[in-house]
Amino acid sequence: MATGAQVELTNDSDPVVDQQDLAHSAGANGATTVAGKYVGKEHKWARPPSSRWNHEHLYQTLPIAGAIGLTWLFNTVYGPTFYPWLNAHYTPFEINCWWTLALTSGFYWAVGLVFMALDMVPFLHARVAQYKLQPRKITWSEYAQVCGIVARNQLCVNLPLTAASAYFMPRPTDLPLPGLGWTAVVYVVCLGFEEAGFYLVHRAVHSKRLYAKVHKMHHRFSAPVAFASTYCTVAEHLSSNLLPIVLGVGLINAHWSLTIMFFCSLELGTLATHSDYNIPGLSDALQHDWHHYSFTENFGPTGVIDEWLGTNSNYKVWLGELQRRDKDTPGWYTRARMELAQKTQ
Ligand SMILES: [Zn+2]
Ligand SMILES: [Zn+2]
Repeated sequence: MATGAQVELTNDSDPVVDQQDLAHSAGANGATTVAGKYVGKEHKWARPPSSRWNHEHLYQTLPIAGAIGLTWLFNTVYGPTFYPWLNAHYTPFEINCWWTLALTSGFYWAVGLVFMALDMVPFLHARVAQYKLQPRKITWSEYAQVCGIVARNQLCVNLPLTAASAYFMPRPTDLPLPGLGWTAVVYVVCLGFEEAGFYLVHRAVHSKRLYAKVHKMHHRFSAPVAFASTYCTVAEHLSSNLLPIVLGVGLINAHWSLTIMFFCSLELGTLATHSDYNIPGLSDALQHDWHHYSFTENFGPTGVIDEWLGTNSNYKVWLGELQRRDKDTPGWYTRARMELAQKTQ
């Protein structure tokens, strides 16, 4: 290696549940820094440069711009006829409850199944393998467990919370429809609520008092899959995944169409960031994947508060280390993977 650094490979298998406690209490999963310099062992996380292309800021704004643009386009082209029809056939409660559940849950399963196909169908997996962050592969049996918990959470949390919101805090479902400017404002304000709410709850559930009871389940997979985004306890799903969204759209009095837009765009984001693929044009998966890998950094969904409070220092140092190795010794990760494969054979 041109830098003189030795490629040290650990044949660490993915941490099992008990090891997660160790990593959680110890700090990070081997990622340590001294005066901002990476001094940890070789990681399995973030392999080729192609898995980091999607880290560019331009790519990260595409899903947000797409959600805002498509919603505004639908409301402009179809809205004037669709919403009078909708309100003539369904009550505001039915639209806010059943239509919301059908659209948001249907979208979540549809996108999650696409990611599942990328994981489990070899022909499809080969197309996106270059964007995979960690080498671990999930089994069908683990997928069945994950999907069972996802369905349980939708039934036990999404259903009653959506019904309660539809009854006590229904979103407007009729004309006039919001314009492009207000659609963007609602998105940004609700994203602010989501960032603050999720970060606060997520840091709280990483405390010693709450971790085992509330959050440990979500950290079962150090290399997660898309559906693992809602593989969590009922308490976590309610407090960190849903309440910040419901509060945001309620307090800003978002039109129902914008509530659906925001919810689905967050679903797309969390599915992508848990998928273990960092596919260009989707949300940047590096940040949250690192959280699952290291346990103790990158608590927020956007990274703004992590940057502000400095809860991303090891992550940034490791990214810098990867870039340095890319520059100094192109192809280092290929040799590292080969050595790891030999060690684990
Ligand atoms: Zn997660
Ligand atoms: Zn966590």
